[in-house]
Amino acid sequence: MNDCIFCKIANGEIPSSTIYEDDKFRVILDLSPAAAGHALIIPKAHFRNIFDLDDATAADLFVLAKKIACAAKKALNCDGLNIVQNNEEIAGQTVFHFHMHIIPRYINDGQSILWKPGTSDPETLKNLAAKIAEAL
Ligand code: AMP
Ligand code: ZN
Repeated sequence: MNDCIFCKIANGEIPSSTIYEDDKFRVILDLSPAAAGHALIIPKAHFRNIFDLDDATAADLFVLAKKIACAAKKALNCDGLNIVQNNEEIAGQTVFHFHMHIIPRYINDGQSILWKPGTSDPETLKNLAAKIAEAL
Protein backbone atom coordinates (compact mmCIF):
# COMPACT_ATOMS: atom_id res chain seq x y z
CA MET A 1 0.00 0.00 0.00
CA ASN A 2 2.18 2.83 -1.34
CA ASP A 3 -0.12 5.67 -0.30
CA CYS A 4 -1.15 4.41 3.16
CA ILE A 5 0.08 6.73 5.93
CA PHE A 6 -0.21 4.06 8.65
CA CYS A 7 1.85 1.59 6.57
CA LYS A 8 4.55 4.27 6.46
CA ILE A 9 4.27 5.08 10.17
CA ALA A 10 4.11 1.42 11.26
CA ASN A 11 7.15 0.55 9.19
CA GLY A 12 9.15 3.58 10.36
CA GLU A 13 9.22 5.56 7.10
CA ILE A 14 7.39 8.44 8.82
CA PRO A 15 8.48 9.39 12.35
CA SER A 16 6.01 8.97 15.20
CA SER A 17 5.91 9.11 18.99
CA THR A 18 6.49 5.40 19.41
CA ILE A 19 5.66 3.68 22.70
CA TYR A 20 6.35 0.12 21.57
CA GLU A 21 7.49 -1.79 18.52
CA ASP A 22 7.96 -5.44 17.62
CA ASP A 23 8.04 -7.35 14.34
CA LYS A 24 4.23 -7.21 13.95
CA PHE A 25 3.07 -3.94 15.57
CA ARG A 26 3.96 -0.35 16.32
CA VAL A 27 2.16 1.55 19.06
CA ILE A 28 2.20 5.34 18.73
CA LEU A 29 0.63 8.37 20.33
CA ASP A 30 -2.29 9.86 18.39
CA LEU A 31 -1.50 13.29 16.90
CA SER A 32 -4.95 14.62 17.87
CA PRO A 33 -5.48 12.91 21.23
CA ALA A 34 -8.89 12.52 22.86
CA ALA A 35 -7.01 12.63 26.17
CA ALA A 36 -3.39 12.56 27.36
CA GLY A 37 -1.75 9.27 26.39
CA HIS A 38 -4.21 8.38 23.59
CA ALA A 39 -2.36 5.62 21.75
CA LEU A 40 -2.89 3.70 18.52
CA ILE A 41 -1.91 0.07 18.05
CA ILE A 42 -1.03 -0.35 14.38
CA PRO A 43 -0.17 -3.69 12.74
CA LYS A 44 2.81 -3.41 10.38
CA ALA A 45 0.94 -5.40 7.72
CA HIS A 46 -1.84 -3.58 5.90
CA PHE A 47 -5.41 -4.58 6.76
CA ARG A 48 -8.21 -2.16 5.89
CA ASN A 49 -10.10 -2.93 9.10
CA ILE A 50 -11.43 -5.78 11.25
CA PHE A 51 -13.21 -7.39 8.31
CA ASP A 52 -9.95 -8.44 6.67
CA LEU A 53 -7.72 -8.75 9.76
CA ASP A 54 -6.02 -12.15 9.94
CA ASP A 55 -6.56 -14.43 12.95
CA ALA A 56 -2.92 -14.44 14.08
CA THR A 57 -2.82 -10.63 14.19
CA ALA A 58 -6.21 -10.50 15.90
CA ALA A 59 -5.01 -12.93 18.58
CA ASP A 60 -1.80 -10.99 19.31
CA LEU A 61 -3.60 -7.66 19.24
CA PHE A 62 -5.55 -7.96 22.46
CA VAL A 63 -2.60 -9.25 24.44
CA LEU A 64 -0.75 -6.11 23.32
CA ALA A 65 -3.80 -3.91 24.05
CA LYS A 66 -3.83 -5.20 27.61
CA LYS A 67 -0.11 -4.52 27.99
CA ILE A 68 -0.44 -0.93 26.70
CA ALA A 69 -3.56 -0.25 28.79
CA CYS A 70 -1.83 -1.42 31.98
CA ALA A 71 1.28 0.63 31.17
CA ALA A 72 -0.87 3.72 30.54
CA LYS A 73 -2.67 3.24 33.85
CA LYS A 74 0.61 2.82 35.70
CA ALA A 75 2.39 5.72 33.97
CA LEU A 76 -0.45 8.23 33.79
CA ASN A 77 -2.59 7.24 36.74
CA CYS A 78 -5.72 7.59 34.58
CA ASP A 79 -9.12 7.01 36.19
CA GLY A 80 -10.38 4.72 33.41
CA LEU A 81 -9.68 3.77 29.81
CA ASN A 82 -11.62 3.17 26.60
CA ILE A 83 -10.63 0.81 23.82
CA VAL A 84 -12.15 1.98 20.54
CA GLN A 85 -11.78 0.44 17.11
CA ASN A 86 -13.64 1.95 14.16
CA ASN A 87 -14.53 0.03 11.00
CA GLU A 88 -15.68 1.86 7.86
CA GLU A 89 -16.75 5.47 7.49
CA ILE A 90 -20.18 5.08 9.12
CA ALA A 91 -18.45 3.84 12.27
CA GLY A 92 -15.97 6.72 12.34
CA GLN A 93 -12.99 5.18 10.55
CA THR A 94 -10.94 7.89 8.87
CA VAL A 95 -7.64 6.06 8.29
CA PHE A 96 -8.21 2.86 6.33
CA HIS A 97 -5.40 0.79 7.84
CA PHE A 98 -6.56 -1.21 10.87
CA HIS A 99 -5.76 0.42 14.20
CA MET A 100 -7.01 0.20 17.77
CA HIS A 101 -7.38 3.27 19.99
CA ILE A 102 -6.29 3.01 23.61
CA ILE A 103 -7.72 6.09 25.32
CA PRO A 104 -6.89 6.82 28.94
CA ARG A 105 -9.73 8.63 30.68
CA TYR A 106 -9.60 11.19 33.45
CA ILE A 107 -12.36 12.47 35.70
CA ASN A 108 -13.57 15.75 34.16
CA ASP A 109 -11.67 15.17 30.87
CA GLY A 110 -14.73 16.47 29.01
CA GLN A 111 -14.80 13.54 26.56
CA SER A 112 -17.89 11.57 25.57
CA ILE A 113 -17.08 8.29 23.87
CA LEU A 114 -20.11 6.20 24.85
CA TRP A 115 -23.17 5.60 22.66
CA LYS A 116 -26.79 6.57 23.21
CA PRO A 117 -28.63 3.44 24.47
CA GLY A 118 -31.48 2.25 22.21
CA THR A 119 -34.40 -0.09 22.87
CA SER A 120 -35.28 -3.61 21.76
CA ASP A 121 -37.54 -6.53 22.67
CA PRO A 122 -36.93 -10.23 23.36
CA GLU A 123 -38.21 -11.40 19.95
CA THR A 124 -35.99 -8.98 18.02
CA LEU A 125 -32.97 -9.89 20.15
CA LYS A 126 -33.63 -13.62 19.62
CA ASN A 127 -33.90 -13.21 15.85
CA LEU A 128 -30.79 -11.07 15.60
CA ALA A 129 -28.77 -13.47 17.76
CA ALA A 130 -29.86 -16.42 15.60
CA LYS A 131 -29.04 -14.55 12.37
CA ILE A 132 -25.51 -13.63 13.48
CA ALA A 133 -24.92 -17.09 14.98
CA GLU A 134 -25.80 -18.65 11.64
CA ALA A 135 -23.16 -16.53 9.90
CA LEU A 136 -20.32 -17.68 12.18
P1 AMP B 1 -10.03 6.54 13.06
O1 AMP B 1 -10.99 7.71 13.01
O2 AMP B 1 -10.49 5.45 13.98
O3 AMP B 1 -9.70 6.04 11.68
O4 AMP B 1 -8.72 7.09 13.74
C1 AMP B 1 -7.68 7.69 13.05
C2 AMP B 1 -6.82 8.34 14.09
O5 AMP B 1 -5.53 8.53 13.55
C3 AMP B 1 -7.31 9.71 14.55
O6 AMP B 1 -7.49 9.68 15.97
C4 AMP B 1 -6.19 10.66 14.13
O7 AMP B 1 -6.00 11.69 15.07
C5 AMP B 1 -5.00 9.73 14.05
N1 AMP B 1 -3.95 10.13 13.12
C6 AMP B 1 -4.09 10.45 11.82
N2 AMP B 1 -2.88 10.70 11.27
C7 AMP B 1 -1.96 10.50 12.25
C8 AMP B 1 -0.55 10.61 12.33
N3 AMP B 1 0.18 10.98 11.26
N4 AMP B 1 0.06 10.34 13.49
C9 AMP B 1 -0.67 9.99 14.58
N5 AMP B 1 -2.02 9.88 14.58
C10 AMP B 1 -2.65 10.14 13.44
ZN1 ZN C 1 -1.55 0.54 5.36
